[in-house]
Amino acid sequence: MHELSVARSLMDLVEDHVRRNGARRVTRIVVVVGVLSGVEPELLRRAFEVIKEGTVADSATLVIEMENLSIRCANCGAFEEKEELSVLCSRCGSPNTEVVRGEDLLLRSLEMELDEASQNLS
Ligand SMILES: [Zn+2]
Repeated sequence: MHELSVARSLMDLVEDHVRRNGARRVTRIVVVVGVLSGVEPELLRRAFEVIKEGTVADSATLVIEMENLSIRCANCGAFEEKEELSVLCSRCGSPNTEVVRGEDLLLRSLEMELDEASQNLS
C-alpha cells in the first residue's frame, strides 16, 4: 500500500519538527494532497492511524486538504484551476499545458505542545 509509506515519511517529517522545536506532543497535522498525487485521502488517514501509534503524534488530528489540479497553457498563456482531471486548456483547447499544482503532497501546518521544562531553562 502506497499510502503506508507516505504516512511513514510524513511521520518522519513531523518527528523532525518536534525534535527541532523541543515539543512534547503534536495535536494537529494539516497536509495538502493534490488530486494527481496518487494518494487516496481515506487510505492515508487509515495508514496514519496505524503509524501514529506510540509516537508523539499519538493523539494528533490529521486534517487532509485536497488540492485541485491547476494548469498553465503554453499555447495561450491561460492559467486555470480545474474541477475535473483534464489538462486540456478550456480557453483554446490545447493539450500543451503545464501542471502547476495538484501533484504534491505537502505538510502545511503542525500544532505542537511545547515541553514546559525546556521552556524554563533560565
Ligand atoms: Zn490555451
